[in-house]
Amino acid sequence: MTKIPMPNPIVEMDGDEMTRLIWRMIKSELIEPFAALNTEYYDLGLPHREETDDAVTKQAAQALLRHRVGVKCATITPNKKRMEEYSLSRMYPSPNGTIRSTVDGTTFRSPILLPGTSPLVPNWKEPITVARHSNADLYKDTELRIETPGEAHLTADGQDRLVYRFDGPGVALAMYNTDKSIYSFARSCFSCALDKKQDLWFSCKDTISTVYDGRFRDIFQEVYDAEYKAAFEAAGIRYIYTLIDDAVARCMRSQGGFVWALKNYDGDVMSDMIGAAFGALALMTSVLISPAGCFEYEAAHGTVTRHWYRRQAGEKTSTNPMATIFAWSGALKKRGELDGVPALTDFGRKIEQASLAAIADGIVTGDMAALTGAEESVDTETFIAAVRERLESLM
Ligand code: NAP
Ligand code: MG
Repeated sequence: MTKIPMPNPIVEMDGDEMTRLIWRMIKSELIEPFAALNTEYYDLGLPHREETDDAVTKQAAQALLRHRVGVKCATITPNKKRMEEYSLSRMYPSPNGTIRSTVDGTTFRSPILLPGTSPLVPNWKEPITVARHSNADLYKDTELRIETPGEAHLTADGQDRLVYRFDGPGVALAMYNTDKSIYSFARSCFSCALDKKQDLWFSCKDTISTVYDGRFRDIFQEVYDAEYKAAFEAAGIRYIYTLIDDAVARCMRSQGGFVWALKNYDGDVMSDMIGAAFGALALMTSVLISPAGCFEYEAAHGTVTRHWYRRQAGEKTSTNPMATIFAWSGALKKRGELDGVPALTDFGRKIEQASLAAIADGIVTGDMAALTGAEESVDTETFIAAVRERLESLM
């Protein structure tokens, strides 16, 4: 069999612990036998970040800007305990944070729906993707506890507004955002919806917050009209702006299958609600999309440290590789699409089909058994072997 060609590389960002092990299994069992895998490799595993004083993370982020498609393994964000465990010379920042700020991107999380299961909201038939604006707002606010009567003012740009005249103790806060960040967020959201060929919803509370939330609404509308309207119409998808309370009600009645863009706090809250309704953390995928159209795929979960320690003690573990498999398939599909190599896109789809087929046949890891009601579960190797068998028959 001739292998599927890959003219341009995917930026491959390796990681830590259990997910690093799963990474190798996925490559050797599900990808390399079928495709002429072409990657630019960056080892973001903690030991190599230490060796390079974290330069490797910055190089990987630059490579993502160059090649536009990347796949990332989960990585340890060191804390004090990890500094001792890995004898680190300093507490390196989260690689995801470094990459996100370099490419100016937004993270989109979507669940994988398992055959034979349904979300807690029974009318949701398709995954719902939540896009949370991750800049400023409540997370960078300034707060005051006010003890004595007096006036609170908001002052900037030659303007002064009386916030409130306190006649007793109370509290006040101020928050901000920037046009630049909102424009980037909007562009990433429109790109994500186009990529998924799903409607984009944006919701906030502009009837109450006419200037602040109003700015978000206006920027989304302006970017849509000027840059995305034609492409949305051609793809047969819609951009919908609606008040957040209306969006929540519509979401509950919907069949799912849309991208929901939310301000920072709203996204924090709604992503937990959507995530819980769709099931397990191990089935949540994540893609970082930059306004310039870079795509980085990863699993939303971490390095599964508890399972890793058990592995090192010689035990088998039933760690779920689905989200990491879908990170790879997502990157392969995107590479194929951008380079006009339909065989590669088709291969990515087949990897997903084969994984879902194994689950439909009742071959699941422990965490999935709890969702599908399967009586037995298998270890990670056995699950991946079952996927490979089904992939071979699809190829
Ligand atoms: P975690 O790795 O997501 O694991 C938390 C727990 O969730 C696991 O102990 C396991 O529960 C369950 N779980 C997660 N993924 C699973 C999978 N694929 N299959 C089966 N069960 C799974 O979170 P953590 O333990 O808080 O963090 C571990 C390390 O990951 C940390 O060093 C953190 O910095 C890093 N992290 C990285 C990223 C990233 O790179 N994007 C994200 C989050 C965390 P049971 O033990 O009950 O089976
Ligand atoms: Mg939250």
